[in-house]
Amino acid sequence: MRCHTIIPLLAVLGIPTIGTAAEPAQSSSHGAHVHGQAQLSFATDAQQVELLLESPVANLLGFEHAPGSAAEKAAWQQSQTLLQSGQWLQLPPAANCQLQQQQLNEPWSKSADPHHHADVELSLTYQCSNPAALTEVRLDLFRHAADLHQVDVQWVSGQQQGAATLTLKQREFRLVPAN
Ligand SMILES: [Zn+2]
Repeated sequence: MRCHTIIPLLAVLGIPTIGTAAEPAQSSSHGAHVHGQAQLSFATDAQQVELLLESPVANLLGFEHAPGSAAEKAAWQQSQTLLQSGQWLQLPPAANCQLQQQQLNEPWSKSADPHHHADVELSLTYQCSNPAALTEVRLDLFRHAADLHQVDVQWVSGQQQGAATLTLKQREFRLVPAN
């Protein structure tokens, strides 16, 4: 089941969280839809890490309409597998984090955007046995997303919080461990 323990921290920052499938589609309260850019919110509390990645689909696939051709469907399938695997992100090995759950939205479900803009909203939850080692996070997303140039990060760790801007040349951000 979905764990809600960290969600309030994200809400404090004004970071929208992903609704459960049962909820009606929220009107777009997410971060700005700017091609080339994505938002990552990262929260850690005790042994849990929860992150939310929001990105225009175009950054990942190079197109933003619902996949139509077999090639487009295959590209989307590959992208989903990568996102949900968490392999686009590196947490410090010493923190010993295990991916517990993942939730990826269906970007074209709410549909009716005449301009065909669509966003990926991915949430990943980790359990880390040594959260004191959570001092930096590295993104390997850029090499998988050719049209992604910048990721704006907001993090919360216990009582600390901060922000970072990641690019192909600056793929890591540092944070203060919660404990
Ligand atoms: Zn768009």
